[in-house]
Amino acid sequence: MVSWDELPEGFRVYGRSVREVGEATLALVRGPEGKMLFLSHALPGLVGEELPGGGYLCPLSFENARALAEHVSELRPRRLPEGPSFGFGDRIGLATPGHVRSLSGADVFPILAQQSVRENSRTGRSFEEVLTSAIFGAFEEGYTGGFGADADHLKSVEDALAAAELGYTFFTCDPSDHVVAIERLSEEEVGRRFVDLPHREDLEREYLGKNIQIKGLGRLRFSERELAAAAIKYSRAIEFAAEMYHALREVLPGGFDFELSVDEAITPTTPLEHFFVVSELARRDVELASLAPRFGGAMEKAVDYRGSVEVFRRDLRAHVAIAKMLGPYRISLHSGSDKFSLYPVLAREGEGMWHVKTAGTSYLVALEVVARHAPNLFREIAELSLARFAEDRATYHLSTDLSRIPELARLSDEELPKLLAQEDSRQVLHVAFGSVLKSLLGEELRRVLVEHEEAHYEALAQHLGRHLVALGVKDDG
Ligand SMILES: [Zn+2]
Repeated sequence: MVSWDELPEGFRVYGRSVREVGEATLALVRGPEGKMLFLSHALPGLVGEELPGGGYLCPLSFENARALAEHVSELRPRRLPEGPSFGFGDRIGLATPGHVRSLSGADVFPILAQQSVRENSRTGRSFEEVLTSAIFGAFEEGYTGGFGADADHLKSVEDALAAAELGYTFFTCDPSDHVVAIERLSEEEVGRRFVDLPHREDLEREYLGKNIQIKGLGRLRFSERELAAAAIKYSRAIEFAAEMYHALREVLPGGFDFELSVDEAITPTTPLEHFFVVSELARRDVELASLAPRFGGAMEKAVDYRGSVEVFRRDLRAHVAIAKMLGPYRISLHSGSDKFSLYPVLAREGEGMWHVKTAGTSYLVALEVVARHAPNLFREIAELSLARFAEDRATYHLSTDLSRIPELARLSDEELPKLLAQEDSRQVLHVAFGSVLKSLLGEELRRVLVEHEEAHYEALAQHLGRHLVALGVKDDG
């Protein structure tokens, strides 16, 4: 970082951020109170304090992020272009510059703001804050490649509209509250409910007795029982998704990206279910940007895939073939952190029509930085995470075995990073992110990351860069 004469004592400039807008020079600077936006001349919409030596210092508020993005169009969230895309979820709000660095030499479109309503409520953050840190993080690094903003796992139309108002471009609809657990119904019950569906005859005409040819996959054919099951399981979910989509279309007539996620379903999404759900959405004028099916095997958070890679390959091929025929739209891999055994499959079989979402792994990179630079804080975080595990794991599918976790007190400071490599302790550390970030330890953790900012950014750039290399969108080396 360099210093400028106009800036008060104790301020430093992030060199990569410096840019001109009209006659004004803009830069991200860091002073005693943290980061701020420096302007040499006033710009409409940007609000800050005038400096005695000239220029302005503006706080990194949402209003200023929004105004900055009005002046610098590359900082305005935009829609997905063609080709693969990658979601860099950031739970702490300090990771974007590291994420941007991982993109150097990569050919993939990034989503730099991506958090779900659930993640935000666990970390005490908001859609505003997530977008604000993404915009200023991209600005800090002088990033001009464009990015999207994903309001992830939306379970209500109100939340979707709130995110739209803030400038989000990508909306992930999670209809799981409306999916009927068909697995728990008897044959008779399925038959009874199907007869009661108001549009049953319409569905029978549309789907029964037809051979549906899918290029690259073969033939799909619904039996009456399969149609009944798909219809009962998804009818309300389809109505909900259509309602959210059309509400968004009212407020965003210029377009947006809409993903349907059923990745948290109990059973893997079958090709028939995929075909049925997307066809029904299309009949309701819903255009998908991507679909997140539930794959076979276990997608546990922030560890590699647990299951047969062959099963994943077969599922992926089927989903891609259907997506090409009905869309095209992308196939989205959720809980995509650290799925290194799957990335080569996505790279080869995904036909460039994939989206991967990560978030947990960036939090764990942050913890690794803490383990190296503030071992005592890391020990406290590990203890809290263990104490919270029984409760915090509740909404995740995990096969964690606590007995395999090395005893904290027996590890030397140098050995602490082992807890991030061992899968069971890695999961314990991961699922506690909300408890940690909301506690006083969260404040300490942020302080350590700011103090070791370069180390944090470089660790993120390396680890996320490895993801992109394995996905075939970035050259090794
Ligand atoms: Zn998901």
